[in-house]
Amino acid sequence: MSTQINTVTGAIPSEDLGKTLMHEHFFFGFPGYAGDSLGYRTREELVSLGVEAAGRAKTQGVKTIVDATPNECGRDPEILREISERSGVQIICSTGYYYEGEGATAYFKFRAALGPADAEIEELMMTELTEGIGDSGIKAGVIKLASGKDVITDYEKMFFLAGAKAQRATGVPIITHTQEGTMGPEQAALLVEAGANPAQVMIGHMDGNTDVAYHMATLAHGVNVAFDRFGVQVIVGAPMDEARKATLLGLLGMGYGDRIMLSHDTINVWLGRPLAMPDAVAELLKNWHITHLFDDIVPFLKGAGVGEELLDSIFTENPRRLFDPSPAPTTTGTVGS
Ligand SMILES: [Zn+2]
Repeated sequence: MSTQINTVTGAIPSEDLGKTLMHEHFFFGFPGYAGDSLGYRTREELVSLGVEAAGRAKTQGVKTIVDATPNECGRDPEILREISERSGVQIICSTGYYYEGEGATAYFKFRAALGPADAEIEELMMTELTEGIGDSGIKAGVIKLASGKDVITDYEKMFFLAGAKAQRATGVPIITHTQEGTMGPEQAALLVEAGANPAQVMIGHMDGNTDVAYHMATLAHGVNVAFDRFGVQVIVGAPMDEARKATLLGLLGMGYGDRIMLSHDTINVWLGRPLAMPDAVAELLKNWHITHLFDDIVPFLKGAGVGEELLDSIFTENPRRLFDPSPAPTTTGTVGS
């Protein structure tokens, strides 16, 4: 029997995942946005903008989108459910907190000061994965973990250790945030040492680093890596797409095509007031949208000799295997013993 995956509209068998974007955000706010009453958005606005984005992805054959928004950054499974129902795109939501530098850290830090919070975090993740988020009845389908630049802080470690335990207990995959191309190998080592199944770990934002040796050191732990910020250029220490493309081609040429995922980390709606972006920044981010991979990067990869079969595997088979690492059922009728 195939593994069941929690989407915001219910469980699906892993073979129904289809073409998948592994790291996007329908809406996201840095903690603090909720206090800016000038940035209030209606639920209907979030839903209709989400349906529009999901629809554009759907025209490119995307069947599933993983929404990587951490709990405290505006995650709202019921709005995601409505977006999924109205667009027909399957959506998987996350459980987990953002990294110390940009997350809401006071809550669990205060609790940790009074006694160990690790068990509480694990209980939160387990409940959201197996029973549901609040009273929504919607279960999270991935565990989201995050660390900062050049360090995994003690605060962040609490979440990594809890996440590894929840991963092992549930078989649900872990997706991560790395900051400015750092700590990929360290995240992988920490998670594997804490008992996570490396085949079910996707180290994220690895395209923030164009050094092939950094990728190989991460892959050496048996995990998967994500080039999931295509279109994000220069801001948050990101390289240009041109550099990412070269690194990606290098890894594909070395035979790592079965352990790489592609996505954009789009933020379709910034919670709070809309961003005022200088023209130069807007120009750098002009391709940061949900079909950029299909409009621009896939044609480039094809032109560079990457075959249809490998591209299909990257968007469909690799995500399926992250959720369900058991071997695909054989259809050739081999005689068992
Ligand atoms: Zn993200």
